[in-house]
Amino acid sequence: MTLRFTKELQTAEFESPFNNFKKVQMVGEVRQCPITGYVSRLVPFRFKPLEEPDLTPLLKKSISLGCPFCPDAIPRKTTRFIEDFGVDEGRITKGEAVVFPNAFPYDKYSAVTVISRAHYVPPASFDPKRLLDAFLASQAYFVKIKEFESKVVYAYVNWNYMPQAGAGLVHPHFQLLVPSRPTHYHSRLIESAERYYQIHKESIFEALLEDEKKEGHRYVGNSGDWEWLSAFAPRGNYEFWGILLDDLSVLDMEPRHLEELSVGINRILRFFEEKNIHSYNMALYTYLEPFSPGYRHLVSLVPRMNLPPTGISDINYFDRLHGESLSFIPPEVAAEDLRRFFK
Ligand SMILES: [Zn+2]
Repeated sequence: MTLRFTKELQTAEFESPFNNFKKVQMVGEVRQCPITGYVSRLVPFRFKPLEEPDLTPLLKKSISLGCPFCPDAIPRKTTRFIEDFGVDEGRITKGEAVVFPNAFPYDKYSAVTVISRAHYVPPASFDPKRLLDAFLASQAYFVKIKEFESKVVYAYVNWNYMPQAGAGLVHPHFQLLVPSRPTHYHSRLIESAERYYQIHKESIFEALLEDEKKEGHRYVGNSGDWEWLSAFAPRGNYEFWGILLDDLSVLDMEPRHLEELSVGINRILRFFEEKNIHSYNMALYTYLEPFSPGYRHLVSLVPRMNLPPTGISDINYFDRLHGESLSFIPPEVAAEDLRRFFK
């Protein structure tokens, strides 16, 4: 069944000072996500490549303030799970990764996964092994939560990378959340998947991939069973999605599923670093038990950038107050650019 990829062209006319005040036409696009209905505007603005940021002052300051996530500080300065939780020494560890409760919780079950021993890791240096250990440690946390409280269903692995993207600390860390109810965006994904399945007896995520592969301009490639694409209606300048078509809860995923996920994320982070993007948000919308026959795992990565010449924020009233986004980069161009990392 074909999904609806809604796209409206909008032409604005004005007399331009850049063209001797002759009349010019500027064409933009208003798009709607075929799954969630999320609206994204593609703005006719020539995107200038970003310059490499000087992170030295930020890194220096983050060290001088004292970092609780550096290996020596973790035992003294981070939280521990309560004894009833049944975790040895109060924290979950796997390779370099360490999981402990979030000291500033967002919900009843809110935790942090420190990804690396190193205080600062450039995007391309999150190699698949490092990410895999962080995902395995996070999975172990979700296993514990499910043992502790069997009725929880939804779970997220979120990542604010660097303060520019909302991270309180430079030291790389995921934020894990097992909420009592799904977030607003996740609800839209779930409702749409359920509605579609009731009518078509097929997963909307499978239908999306089928359409995107046929159309070809936004499909990027795969890493094992994870399929990657550039979002049709991006929530920023570049939004890449990974979809796992197997109907597995995160608890039933084998290490290879998480390894393949890590390989895909690493390719995107290498692409970001090549573009001088040193900040991004990630969300893995996952679940602790299959709850709807058409739902599948989705991971999304969106860069965060300050645009030249004055470091303009990439978040404005559209995102904050209207629940829409702007993008200067057509998703089709983004996919073509990223595809070489998937060859
Ligand atoms: Zn640190």
